[in-house]
Amino acid sequence: MISLPAHAARAIAQLEAAGYETWAVGGCVRDSLLGRVPHDWDLCTAARPDQMQAVFAGERVLETGLKHGTLTLLTDGGPLEITSFRMDGGYTDGRHPDGVRFVTDVTADLARRDFTVGAMAWHPARGLCDPFGGQDDLQNGVLRAVGDPDARFTEDALRILRGVRFAAQLGFAVEAETAAAMRRQLARLSCVAAERVHEELTGLLCGRFVIRALLGYADIVTAALPELAPMVGCAQQNPHHLYDVWEHTARAVGQVPAEPALRWAMLLHDSGKPACKTVDDAGVGHFYGHPKVSREIAEQITRRLHFSKEQAERILLLTEQHDRPLGDSDKLVRRRLTQIGEARFRDLLAIKKGDAVGQGTHPDNVAELCETERRLNAVLAQDACLSLRQLAVDGNDMQALGLAGPAVGAMLHALLDAVVDGTLDNTRQALLAHAQARMEEHDDQ
Ligand code: ATP
Ligand code: MG
Repeated sequence: MISLPAHAARAIAQLEAAGYETWAVGGCVRDSLLGRVPHDWDLCTAARPDQMQAVFAGERVLETGLKHGTLTLLTDGGPLEITSFRMDGGYTDGRHPDGVRFVTDVTADLARRDFTVGAMAWHPARGLCDPFGGQDDLQNGVLRAVGDPDARFTEDALRILRGVRFAAQLGFAVEAETAAAMRRQLARLSCVAAERVHEELTGLLCGRFVIRALLGYADIVTAALPELAPMVGCAQQNPHHLYDVWEHTARAVGQVPAEPALRWAMLLHDSGKPACKTVDDAGVGHFYGHPKVSREIAEQITRRLHFSKEQAERILLLTEQHDRPLGDSDKLVRRRLTQIGEARFRDLLAIKKGDAVGQGTHPDNVAELCETERRLNAVLAQDACLSLRQLAVDGNDMQALGLAGPAVGAMLHALLDAVVDGTLDNTRQALLAHAQARMEEHDDQ
């Protein structure tokens, strides 16, 4: 029922030929049983690390995880993580086992894993090993902790975020006792390294069932991102909005392509709203200046979670500019293109569409954005001059006219603005004449 790729089958055969019981385990078994193609294959084995090294002597291996029992075998079919059957020792730091003990029984190894649907092993001859009811939970779409849920989340708080991430990716419900334990242990999230929080939240945001997960586990997500907690239940009191700030955000996130920067920007775009909320005499809510405050919150979060500089800059720009018009004329579209470039323009189109759909009102806004997209494509097809590089003159020409220092750049920008606005042709002759005229004007003053 599971089709094992050749590289995994070969490694299992090699270990078993040396006398060590070996299984495919975890996500690859879960995904295969769901009829999905696993993104990688992990094995677990009765061989201890030194015994694995002996079996794979002469092959390409990475030994970075060896202390915890993991050897990575580099095969033509991709890297294969092979881990010795192990039980974890105590967890004093709320995240890492104090030590691991290698064991010979696959069931003991499965018992240390976090959710039943990931605690199954499969062998081409012996079939499925499922001591914790993983297959039933898989069929019912349930995420259930293996063993005592409070103990599991106290040992390693990352599992709380993994649970919500799996819910967002698989569309599964977290079983009631497991969810209650996750919530009881939320304070332990502070033990989890920022990089891991970042990684799990990105997986959650890019999941197919992200809307449901953000709505169902708002308290868990905002425990990891406390800056966003005021969004939950913040009423918009505005005819343009059907939902509170959090529900609007969740729906908007689900609308944009599952690309990390877009999903994060959508999550953060209205984070400044609670702090900016005012209610007028007619009882209507307003959020003047919120994009700037959202940007500040996004800055704080992207710094704390160690986003790369490029990723953070992209998210901050989209957060800050999500409410600005993109342009309802060719001239405005060209201007925006010169300011932010095609890639960010297209990002903003996606963000603004997500925002409009997430409001639950005004479908005409989406039609307007489609019109802007059409205009953008038309402007790009004209191969219009949109940057200094495309201008028919350069800095040397300006120096030849007698300009020096910052005046060179200022003049080139003035020429570009006029070309983009359509008041000046992008020809050498016209540009030089225009520059000359501006210099003379300047001299007269
Ligand atoms: P995916 O790779 O699709 O994210 P996965 O279930 O394979 O999902 P991995 O992080 O690749 O998750 O881990 C492989 C297996 O190791 C899991 O299925 C689980 O059994 C176990 N595991 C991973 N991380 C933990 C953890 N923090 N606590 C307990 N078990 C874990
Ligand atoms: Mg995996």
